[in-house]
Amino acid sequence: MRIPSVHELKERLAKLLPEVPFSFFTEPARMVAQTLREKKLKEGLKTISDKELDRLLLKAFEDYHRPHLRRVINATGIIIHTNLGRAPLPSAAIIHLLDIGPHYSNLEYNLEEGKRGSRYEHVEGILRELTNAEGALVVNNNASAVLISLNTLAQGKEVIVSRGELVEIGGSFRIPEVMRWAGCILKEVGTTNKTHLHDYENAINENTALLLKVHKSNYAIVGFTKEVSTEELVALGKKRGLPVMEDLGSGCFIDFSKYGLSKEPTVQEVVKAGVDVVTFSGDKLLGGPQAGIILGKKEFIERIRKNPLNRAIRIDKFTLAMLEYILKLYRDEAIAINNIPVLEMIFSKPDDIKKKAQRLKRNINALGLPLEDLKIVQTTAKTGGGALPLLDLPSYGVALKIKDLSPQGLHERLRKANPPIIAIAEEDYLVFDARCLFDQDLNIIPEILKQICNELGFTS
Ligand SMILES: *Cc1c(COP(=O)(O)O)cnc(C)c1O
Repeated sequence: MRIPSVHELKERLAKLLPEVPFSFFTEPARMVAQTLREKKLKEGLKTISDKELDRLLLKAFEDYHRPHLRRVINATGIIIHTNLGRAPLPSAAIIHLLDIGPHYSNLEYNLEEGKRGSRYEHVEGILRELTNAEGALVVNNNASAVLISLNTLAQGKEVIVSRGELVEIGGSFRIPEVMRWAGCILKEVGTTNKTHLHDYENAINENTALLLKVHKSNYAIVGFTKEVSTEELVALGKKRGLPVMEDLGSGCFIDFSKYGLSKEPTVQEVVKAGVDVVTFSGDKLLGGPQAGIILGKKEFIERIRKNPLNRAIRIDKFTLAMLEYILKLYRDEAIAINNIPVLEMIFSKPDDIKKKAQRLKRNINALGLPLEDLKIVQTTAKTGGGALPLLDLPSYGVALKIKDLSPQGLHERLRKANPPIIAIAEEDYLVFDARCLFDQDLNIIPEILKQICNELGFTS
């Protein structure tokens, strides 16, 4: 077989896509020429139909030009999946971006007074309204919120932290290292499983600047344990004239225990306890965009705002627009729960998830794929994002087996599909957990399964 030249392939693409500039075809044409050469060499390809050649060309064109960052389907059952972009945002919030993005905005312009304003004002009011905090500041993410707060409150001085709270969050966020980068001296107290108030008390000296409490996020210590409560730490700070900071990690505004889920400290409770500075993420339990939120006493928030580091970690206008939108939903708890996808998924009832799984199963069944088995299974979903580490959310999924294709082999093909589907590959079955699936996903997944079976030449 003669391999067509790159120029010939480009001309074929130009006929298929007459609107597209000719230069956009170079790379896809090279990719296809390369594929054909390999197929000829390794598989002894003799001929290729025009139809198949066009299919290869169009696929190469799409692969090459589509955005690298794109939507995926999350069938893992992990709601706040850091690798999958954490919190999906409500579509209504994105519509607001259409107003801010292509136009000018009052990002740093005070419309009342007709002079320079502050970008932080857009969310300061709502944050104070929701939490009763004296002051509020938002930055790029919680890691930078912790960094700038430590640097402002305790540079060159000692910060006392319980040994049980010297956590690593993932990536490279480890409390001892953040402490070093903030220019603070870490003073560990207590033991891994037990830290008492007197451990903190005994460690205080003239060089102590701050008492820090860190939410244990993605792990829990169970059994013979003791940790000092926020209230006790605040009382100690008052007695010794030291500020107290809490890195809450997830930061949620809703008391989950009211709904029969396990207790996660709420932002309001921590502020009420009198903590001087609280930090948390925008894209974990809050369900918003990536951001770091800092709340606390006015004097400390003002000092943090003026730290030159603030400019390096500042929040951008798209994030602010999203954050303001999400925060305002929290003015009414029911509205928040029904409109913020992360909360909707956490509060989904197992029966409703089961119905979703059954719909997916029906849609798959309707396509007549060569299935060896297809069934509804009970699964265990997780909040993820370091929140509620011990909380298992009872969930349902669809488990399937395709003849002559291992779950791992199928998963690889699902990952490479468009849109990619990330599921759970078990030993015998591939499982789609239904908790994080959106309505449209219930149609897309069967379509993609069908495509995969067609490409493999499988028929039932
Ligand atoms: C997640 C987390 C962080 C980091 O927050 P990002 O928003 O990912 O930067 C810091 N501290 C704790 C306790 C966390 O759980």
